[in-house]
Amino acid sequence: MTEAPTDDLLLRLRRFHSDYFPGHQQRFQDLVAQGQHPKTLFIGCSDSRLVPYLLTDSEPGELFIVRNVGAFIPPYDGSNNFHGTTAAIEFAVLTLQVERIVVCGHSHCGAIRAAYDGVPEEAVALRAWLKLAQEALLPVQPCPEALRRTEQRAVCCNWSG
Ligand SMILES: [Zn+2]
Repeated sequence: MTEAPTDDLLLRLRRFHSDYFPGHQQRFQDLVAQGQHPKTLFIGCSDSRLVPYLLTDSEPGELFIVRNVGAFIPPYDGSNNFHGTTAAIEFAVLTLQVERIVVCGHSHCGAIRAAYDGVPEEAVALRAWLKLAQEALLPVQPCPEALRRTEQRAVCCNWSG
């Protein structure tokens, strides 16, 4: 029998268990015993460079997070389809009763860039999803300034559309 290969991510997970967790065990046990009571719903892009806990100096249990490509909020259509972002918002507001909702756009967003440039033909779901950025797009070539403005507009369009 061969041992499963270890990679850096598994090593870091082991380090979390051996180094970090013992010093914070009580906090995690309290979160289990008392349940989660985050005051903030954080809606952010899936971009690997966006780290909500780092940005907000938050601890486990403080943020209820939903992430998707572009940090878009699809309009509510009342259907019974699988709406992950909408379900997360409902859970945060109706069950957790969060006090605030943060929508965090970011610079150099690949979703905004893709909304201008297009995506591979076989990315059917992604192409449909990026239609949520349409209202934010500017009728210009996607230069760096236009991309920054579009990233900002996309956050605002989430709430007005
Ligand atoms: Zn992004």
